[in-house]
Amino acid sequence: MDNIELKRFWEKVKEEYVGILPESVHPWIYSLEVSGYDKGVLTVVTGQAMARDWLRKYHSEQMNKTLKTITKNEAACIHIIYDENEARKMKKEVEKIHKKELELQQKEQAIENLSYMQSSSNLNLKYKFENFVVGENNKFAHSAALAVAKNPAQKYNPLFIYGKAGLGKTHLMQAIGHYTIFNNPKAKVKYTKTDDYINDFISNSRKSNDYVENMAKFNKKYTNIDIILIDDIQFIESKERTMERMQHTFDTLYNKGKQIVITSDRIPEEIPKLTDALKTRFEWGLMVELIPPEIETRIKILKNLAQNCGIEAEQAALKYIAENYDKNVRELEGAFTKVCAFAEMSEQKITLNLAQQILKCKPAEAVSFDSVAKITAEYLNVDVDDIKGTSRNQKVVKARQLIFYLCRELTNQSFESIGEYFNKKHTTAMYGHEQVKNKINASQELSNAVREIKQALKVIR
Ligand code: ADP
Ligand code: MG
Repeated sequence: MDNIELKRFWEKVKEEYVGILPESVHPWIYSLEVSGYDKGVLTVVTGQAMARDWLRKYHSEQMNKTLKTITKNEAACIHIIYDENEARKMKKEVEKIHKKELELQQKEQAIENLSYMQSSSNLNLKYKFENFVVGENNKFAHSAALAVAKNPAQKYNPLFIYGKAGLGKTHLMQAIGHYTIFNNPKAKVKYTKTDDYINDFISNSRKSNDYVENMAKFNKKYTNIDIILIDDIQFIESKERTMERMQHTFDTLYNKGKQIVITSDRIPEEIPKLTDALKTRFEWGLMVELIPPEIETRIKILKNLAQNCGIEAEQAALKYIAENYDKNVRELEGAFTKVCAFAEMSEQKITLNLAQQILKCKPAEAVSFDSVAKITAEYLNVDVDDIKGTSRNQKVVKARQLIFYLCRELTNQSFESIGEYFNKKHTTAMYGHEQVKNKINASQELSNAVREIKQALKVIR
């Protein structure tokens, strides 16, 4: 029997003893530590002389009998030794092992909880505080997010993070979620994109069966939580009933003392047709802005990326990439990933030469509605003026939908502004976007068109 087997064996025997012996002697049973088992003789040590004497005198017969049954050995017997020092030492050892086992168990449980919570709360594992590079541009937003993560619903509720696309709003918001789950695996964190919230609400309110029950389910889903993370609130646009529902979600959570975190690409004041009620609520807490990072921070971000990929990169190469991508961290990362892929494929490190060769910077210019319309119309051979007009010709309608789709995907602008630019209602833009989105995976023709137009727009190569 090795040490572990011996301890297990003793646990089993002890359990039996506790079952058969009177309660008054249980403390003595618990004082026994196993020291060995050899040829049927089970040796245990106690630090209390009374325990040895009493058990020997009044219970040894019963204890031996039980041991014989367990071991199926007629010669089995228990030998109780009194040795204060030895007992103390052994007790400590056992406690140490127990503690280790418990820690291991807790760790395993925590990891299990963590991955469950992380997947059920919709969080991206990459978006943690540890991976967020702090610079002059984001230090205020970062410390506000950290304060919220450490003390939810105390100071800054709601926390409203705003800034242009690709500057780390989603990352920072989700970092709060990860932090919370890690430190309190039982906390219920929910991350939701505003689009998903809207679709969920619409589909629930349209279901033909019990409206009240559906709404109750919907409410529970968004309010039976500790922290809600609502991403890209600018997309709430002018959907009145959804805004009413959002207000209800907000108030319920707020009144229950739960934390609300919101992101947006602009301040509440500039979100078209946002109800005053929501506007004021969004401004109740703290509003923090993310602006593009300065060069040092951009280089630091690239350094981290290189480190995480385990790829060697020349400082000059990182500097070159950072200098040329200064408005959007997503694009900065994209440029790096492209260079990294080439470096990996050709099994070389990232050098300035390679970066220059791959990126040939001039980075892609910002995509405008106008350029999307022109290139798409040309590609599909329709007149660009018809796109803004009222033509119901199938070819024009298809081109229009594709343009709405591309505008939304490539510029991240609201349907409201896309619709407005093309003289259409925002619902028309939204519908068009949805049509293409639903068909794109099934239609080779459509996905080719999207790829080629993107290439022409120079957003991909
Ligand atoms: P937004 O939600 O503002 O459009 P994201 O949070 O999606 O932007 O960020 C875009 C990408 O840039 C993500 O991959 C994110 O991890 C990365 N990123 C942004 N800011 C930082 C930062 N300060 N440190 C590290 N990565 C960042
Ligand atoms: Mg985002």
